[in-house]
Amino acid sequence: MKADLERIKILAESWSPEQVIAWTFATYGENVELATGFGVEGMALLDMASRLNPDLKVFTGDTEFLFSETYDLIDRVEEKYGIKVERLYSDLTPEEQERSYGKALWARDPDQCCNLRKVEPLRRKLAALDAWITAVRRDQTASRAAIRKIDWDAKFNLVKISPFADWTREMIWNYVIKNDVPYNPLHDRNYPSIGCTHCTRAVQPGEDHRAGRWSGFGKTECGLHTAASQPALRLVQLEPVGAEK
Ligand code: SF4
Repeated sequence: MKADLERIKILAESWSPEQVIAWTFATYGENVELATGFGVEGMALLDMASRLNPDLKVFTGDTEFLFSETYDLIDRVEEKYGIKVERLYSDLTPEEQERSYGKALWARDPDQCCNLRKVEPLRRKLAALDAWITAVRRDQTASRAAIRKIDWDAKFNLVKISPFADWTREMIWNYVIKNDVPYNPLHDRNYPSIGCTHCTRAVQPGEDHRAGRWSGFGKTECGLHTAASQPALRLVQLEPVGAEK
């Protein structure tokens, strides 16, 4: 059955994260996967989704510039949840990137570096899916303020699911502590948001949570999460799975 995206978008806004995730698996089956960079939000999402679907498929963008703590966390996740995390790599190794674009591209043109190492690998991955699940929240950045829980991702041409759209950072941490979810130890060392080593620093007291990302540049996003817009899509179910009537 085909349904109207606008209707499902509105309905889903009253659903809990579990209801959104359950609806997503029931609707897209094998053709939906979870994307995470292994920040605390992604860990909460991965834990919650794995309870609803033990066969959950997870992928991450491995820029080859991640912190050793992040690589260790990925290993722990694979062991704890019994999954194999798919790593998405750039077509260029760091050495090839340096030969083609010069030394330390991230320090001169981080948008191009993110495009090469994050956005294009993701674009190739998403081309094979009907939907992707992310842990983005409205209160993270101004550009994420309009995120819907279920929406069309016009940049990558598939449905984007954001079950934590209306959660706060405090709610995420409450879930992680309550459920003993593993998380990156850098979060306990003033790294509230963690990306590549070259572009992430600890934040100082009073700074915004994302002030440590691309510090010194106006950049706040790597280009994966842009505002969604309209269109038609494949939807096969309109009611939330397990929703209370
Ligand atoms: S976060 Fe920095 S190092 Fe990582 S891909 Fe983007 S610009 Fe390159």
